[in-house]
Amino acid sequence: MSETKILLSEKEMPTAWYNVMADMPNLPKPPLHPGTKQPVGPQDLGAIFPEELIKQEVSTERWIEIPEEVQQIYKLWRPSPLYRAQRLEKALDTPAKIYYKYEGVSPAGSHKPNTSIPQAYYNKKAGIKRLATETGAGQWGSALSLSCKFFDMECIVYMVKVSYQQKPYRRIFMQTYGADVIASPSNLTESGRKILEADPETMGSLGIAISEAVEDAAKRDDTNYALGSVLNHVMLHQTVIGLEAKKQLEMVDEYPDIVVGCCGGGSNFAGVSFPFVYDKLTNGTKVRAIAVEPAACPTLTKGKFAYDFGDTVGMVPILNMYTLGHDFMPPGIHAGGLRYHGDSPLVSQLYHDGIIEAQSKTQKACFEAAVMFAQNEAILPAPESSHAIRVAIDEALKCKETGEAKTILFCLSGNGYLDLPSYDAFNSGKIEDYEYPDSLIEDSLKKLPITE
Ligand SMILES: *Cc1c(COP(=O)(O)O)cnc(C)c1O
Repeated sequence: MSETKILLSEKEMPTAWYNVMADMPNLPKPPLHPGTKQPVGPQDLGAIFPEELIKQEVSTERWIEIPEEVQQIYKLWRPSPLYRAQRLEKALDTPAKIYYKYEGVSPAGSHKPNTSIPQAYYNKKAGIKRLATETGAGQWGSALSLSCKFFDMECIVYMVKVSYQQKPYRRIFMQTYGADVIASPSNLTESGRKILEADPETMGSLGIAISEAVEDAAKRDDTNYALGSVLNHVMLHQTVIGLEAKKQLEMVDEYPDIVVGCCGGGSNFAGVSFPFVYDKLTNGTKVRAIAVEPAACPTLTKGKFAYDFGDTVGMVPILNMYTLGHDFMPPGIHAGGLRYHGDSPLVSQLYHDGIIEAQSKTQKACFEAAVMFAQNEAILPAPESSHAIRVAIDEALKCKETGEAKTILFCLSGNGYLDLPSYDAFNSGKIEDYEYPDSLIEDSLKKLPITE
C-alpha cells in the first residue's frame, strides 16, 4: 500500500520563494498610471505599498528569501499536507495517481495567509499602522484580519455588500480578529459615494470595493493597501505551496504530468504550478499546468489580453492581463473567490505565451466533483477549489480510457466549512449553470482604457 499522507518536517520547509520572472521568456508589460497612462514608478506605488513589496513586484531575482519571522508564523500550519487521493482514484477506477496539496489547514481555511502574513510583516517593518483591503466572499479579508493582529496593526475591510448581507459568518470571523468591516459601496469614500449616487440599490462588486480600499489607503499616511491576489508579489509568496509539494512528491519518487489549480486572480494556481513551470522553462520538463476558471467568469478562456483597470473607478494601476472589462458584473455564482474580471499579469503572460493552459467549467459539474471528493476523501472543499477537482477528475477519467497511469497534482486551495449554504443549494437541486454571454463580454471590452 502506498502512502496516503505525505508530510514534510518543519526543517525541510522552503526558506526562499520562487520568482517566475527570472525565467519567463517575456515579462509582462509594465503597469500604467490610471491618470497619465504612463508606466508607474516606485514613487506612485509608494503611497499604498511598502518598499519591500514594490521591490518584489518588479524583481527578476530567481529566489527571494522568506524572512525568519514569516517562516516562524508559517510554521503554525505549514508545511501543509500532501495527500494521495486513493479512495477517489478507486471510485473513479482510474490508473492515474491523484495527489492534492491541502491549503485548507491554515487558520483562515485557505491558501491566502501565505501572502497576508508577509504583506503584514513588510508593512509593519515600514512603520505602517493600518491596512485597508477589500473582500468578496470573505476569505481574503479573514486572512488579512488575523495577519494584522499578529503584527499589532489595525485592519479595515471593504466587503462587497451582497456578501456582507448573505455571508455573515466571514464577517463575524473578521470582526472577531478585531477588523473593521464595512459594506461596500459605503459612504466613507468618494468612490463609494459616487457609485451609490448612480445606483443606491447596488449590491457592490469586487472592483468597487478595491476602489474604496485604495482610496482609503492613499488618503492616510498611516495606512497602506493590501491585495490578496493578482499582483506579482502575491504570486511569489504563494510559491511555498508548489515548492513544498515538489519535495513531498520527491519523497514518494513522483513528478506530476499535470498540475491543476482553480483560478480567480491566479494566486493559488501560480503557487502550486510556478515551481513546476520553472522546470519546464529551465529544463524543458514536460508538465502541463492547467488554470481552471468558472464558465460564469471566463477571464482567460474568453477575455482579451489587454491593458485594463484593476478596479471599477480607475484608482489602481492599469495592468496588462486577460480581462473581461473592468465594469464586468459577474453573476452570483457560489465560487465567490473566482469572480474577478481580470487575472494576474504573470499568469496571463504565461498563458498568452502557451506555457500554461486554461479551461472553464460550469458550477454544477464542479459541485458534483466536490461532493464526490468529499464522500471519498472526507474533506469538504471550498466551492472555488471544486473547479480544480473537476479537472483533476476529468483528466483521471481520460487516463481510464487510454490506460495511462499519469500523475496528477492539484491544489485544494481551501475548505468549504463556511460555505455550507452553497452545498445546501446544490443538495436541494438549486444550483443553476450560467455561461457568461459573449455579447456582454464584447460590450464590456469596448470600455478598455487603452485601445491598440
Ligand atoms: C480566494 C480564493 C481563491 C481564488 O483566488 P486565487 O488568487 O485565484 O487563488 C481560490 N480558492 C480559495 C479557497 C480562495 O479563498
